[in-house]
Amino acid sequence: MHRVLRRVDSAPGPRIVLEGRSLLNFAANDYLGLAGDAALREAAIRAVEKYGAGSGASRLICGSLAPHHELEEALASFKRVEAALTFSSGYAAAVGTLCAVLEKDDIVILDKLVHASIVDGARLSGAKLRVFDHNDLSDLERILRWADQTRGKRAPGTSAGVNPPGRRVLVVTESIFSMDGDAAPLREIVELKDRYGAWLMLDEAHATGILGPNRLGLAEACGAGDRVEIQMGTLGKAFGASGGYIAGSRVLIEFLINRARSFIFSTAPVPAAAGAALAGVEIVRSQRGEELCARLWERIEQFANGSEQPTGTRRITPAGAIHPIILGAEEVALTFAESLRDRGIYAPAIRYPTVARGQARLRISLSAAHSQADVEVLIAALDELAHTHAPARET
Ligand SMILES: *Cc1c(COP(=O)(O)O)cnc(C)c1O
Repeated sequence: MHRVLRRVDSAPGPRIVLEGRSLLNFAANDYLGLAGDAALREAAIRAVEKYGAGSGASRLICGSLAPHHELEEALASFKRVEAALTFSSGYAAAVGTLCAVLEKDDIVILDKLVHASIVDGARLSGAKLRVFDHNDLSDLERILRWADQTRGKRAPGTSAGVNPPGRRVLVVTESIFSMDGDAAPLREIVELKDRYGAWLMLDEAHATGILGPNRLGLAEACGAGDRVEIQMGTLGKAFGASGGYIAGSRVLIEFLINRARSFIFSTAPVPAAAGAALAGVEIVRSQRGEELCARLWERIEQFANGSEQPTGTRRITPAGAIHPIILGAEEVALTFAESLRDRGIYAPAIRYPTVARGQARLRISLSAAHSQADVEVLIAALDELAHTHAPARET
């Protein structure tokens, strides 16, 4: 499959100008509508005025600017952990962390549907890689049992602070899955990994800002925040800026500063990105963040209750802002997406290799920036399509 870039000539928001056409946008991960927010823009400008356009060097040389430190302190305090470390992207955070924490004799166990950044990090780490069926606790337990049996003693002298003696077992999953929109059974996963003495890394990319009484993510919503050893997230989704982060113990963060190659060997993020992300974190924590989150959930409920399921398609119960409509064949997903664009709506068709073959889908992503009327337009268009297109069964 050949992919092409679609040029956008507008700021992020519920409407974008895509290839010269103004479209209602249901494609972004800007869940709270902060990417175009005035406070983030102003924070970015202030950071540029004070610290310049570039950061000059990597964090460990002389690029560790005040805005990076302020952002990491705000993240640690928001996530209620000892410390946090930011990376240039969530992708870099995943790859750098997995490669730092895992050694060749360790075992890493991934949910089948985790994000590419985690798959790449796990592969690159050289650790033994096992995959459990999506959200399948008994399959996870089967692998944990196997890992427990094969777990040997680490050679003497190779243990570091974060690497206790003996083979490490690390389970990695996402809180809300990026293409299916469903949630991991986190409470049960935490029980299991504790029972087998494994560690858990949780990618909260699509849950932070959205789930939990204080919007920390799924771990908070499940009351398991202090039982997840490595919490990961992005600053490019609900926080409205760009960058990635790891939150956890001070020992973990100091270890990553010394060992995560995507952190060490890369120029520090620009001051504008750190400034905007800090403003994003502060808004998410605030009363305004609570209001934006409530508005997002109104839209989620409006869409979930109002839209009709096209015949022959499968919908997954959404746990957040991502609502896939699984159509099966690629051509059907492409036709649906095109018909929506004809009606002034942008929701992309997601195909292999982003999702498995035969699982092509429309991915609807809602935001607090959408109005009730925007979602009504989407529902009406989807209902119309559901009646005009032949059922698309998976074969
Ligand atoms: C977007 C995403 C990432 C990567 O984050 P970036 O900041 O965009 O690099 C990692 N994991 C998941 C689940 C994501 O959806």
